[in-house]
Amino acid sequence: MKRKISLLLATVMLFAAALSGCGEGASEAKTIDVKSDSLYVEKVENLPEDFILGMDASCVPALEKGGVKYYDHEGVEKDVYQILSENGVNYIRVRVWNDPYNADGKGYGGGNCDIANAVEIGKRATAAGMKLLVNFHYSDFWADPGKQMEPKAWKGMDIETKCAALYEYTRDSLQKLVEAGVDVGMVQIGNETNGAMCGENSSDVGGWKRIMELMSAGSKAVREVCPNALVAVHFTNPEKAESYESYGKNLDYYQVDYDVFASSYYPFWHGSMENLSAVLGNISEKYGKKVMVAETSYAFTADDSDFYGNTIGEGGGIVKDYPFSYQGQANLVRNVAATVANIPNGIGIFYWEGTWISAGGESWEANSALWEEYGSGWASSYAAEYDSEDAGKWYGGCAVDNQAFFTSDGKATEALKVFALLREGNIIE
Ligand code: CA
Repeated sequence: MKRKISLLLATVMLFAAALSGCGEGASEAKTIDVKSDSLYVEKVENLPEDFILGMDASCVPALEKGGVKYYDHEGVEKDVYQILSENGVNYIRVRVWNDPYNADGKGYGGGNCDIANAVEIGKRATAAGMKLLVNFHYSDFWADPGKQMEPKAWKGMDIETKCAALYEYTRDSLQKLVEAGVDVGMVQIGNETNGAMCGENSSDVGGWKRIMELMSAGSKAVREVCPNALVAVHFTNPEKAESYESYGKNLDYYQVDYDVFASSYYPFWHGSMENLSAVLGNISEKYGKKVMVAETSYAFTADDSDFYGNTIGEGGGIVKDYPFSYQGQANLVRNVAATVANIPNGIGIFYWEGTWISAGGESWEANSALWEEYGSGWASSYAAEYDSEDAGKWYGGCAVDNQAFFTSDGKATEALKVFALLREGNIIE
C-alpha cells in the first residue's frame, strides 16, 4: 500500500483570456490546484509566469467523431481542452493543412486538420482560457524533413504567384480564427522546414531565397491580421548544429520578419538536452530571437493500444534514465521545460499530440474503419493520391498512443499533472 506522504499543493495562476483576438491581454485570474501523492516533480527554478506549457492537440475532433471521450482524474467526462487547462497546460497548438481531402470529400487522415478543424479547436481552447499556436504546414498533408509538398491547388505556380497564394491563404485563415473569437497567440510559418518548404528545396538553385520569400509572405499576413501574435519558424534535428547555423543565417540574410525560432526535440532522436540548449542559445544570442521547443514527447508504456505500431515502444526508443512510465514521461517533460527556461529568451515548450489515443474498437478491423471514415489514424488510404510513397504504403492508425497523457479509454493519467506541478515541485518519498 502506498504510504501517505507529504502532499504539495501546486497553485498555478492562470490568466483566462477575457478578450478575444490575436494575442490580446489577459485579465481574469483563476487558481488551479493539482496534487499528487505518486508523481515526483523537481521544481523548475526561475520559471516565468508566462512560460508556455503547451500541447499540440490537433486530432481531438476526429477522435471524438469516432467515439473517443475524455475524463479528468476523478473520472468526470469533460472537454479535453478544459482538462488540459486544469492541469497547467496554458497553450494549444494546432496544425493546419490547406486541403486534406480528395475530390470525393474523403479525408487523408491525421485528424483531417483543415482550417475548420483549427477554428473548432481554437474556440474550445479559448473557452478554456488558453491561447492558440496556429501551425501552418502549407501542404495538404504532413510536412516534415521527409516531405514538403505544396498544396494541390498551388502546383505549377511560379514563386511570385505561390507567395501571393500563401499570403492570401494565411490572411484568410487567420481572419476566420479571429472572427470566431479565437485567442491567437502565435503563428508558425511552416513545419519542420529543414531546407525545404511548400515544394521549394534549398538544394535547387535559388532554393533558399524562394523558401525565405514564402516565409516572409506568411509573416506579412500574420502582422496584418494578428499584429499582437508572435511569428514562429520551425526546424528539427537540433543534433545537427551546423544546419541550425545555416537556418539562422538565411533567415537573417533574407530579413525574414519573425520572433521565435522553434525546434522539435524528440529525446530518442535528437541528441542531448545540453546540445539542444547550446544550439538554441546560439540562435537566441546571435540573432536576438526568442526560442522554444515546438514538439517533444515520450512514452509511458512500451505497449500499443490500437493495433497500429508505435514510433517508439516495443521496437525500442528508450532513453537512458527515462523509463517508459508515467514518472519517466513526466521527468522528460520537466527536464525539457527546465532546459528551455534556462536559455536566454527561452519562452516555452509544446508537447506533441498528448491527446491522441486509440480510436475505438477491439480489433484492427474495427479501428481501421474509424481511421478511414473520420481520419483519426495518421493516414487513410485516401491519402495515397497525394502521398503515394509514405501514406500510400503505410496508412493506418496512431503511432503515438503510448505517448499520450490519457489511457486508451480516455482517462487523464498521473503524468499529465507534471505541467502544473513543475512550477512549485512535488516532493514525495
Ligand atoms: Ca498505435
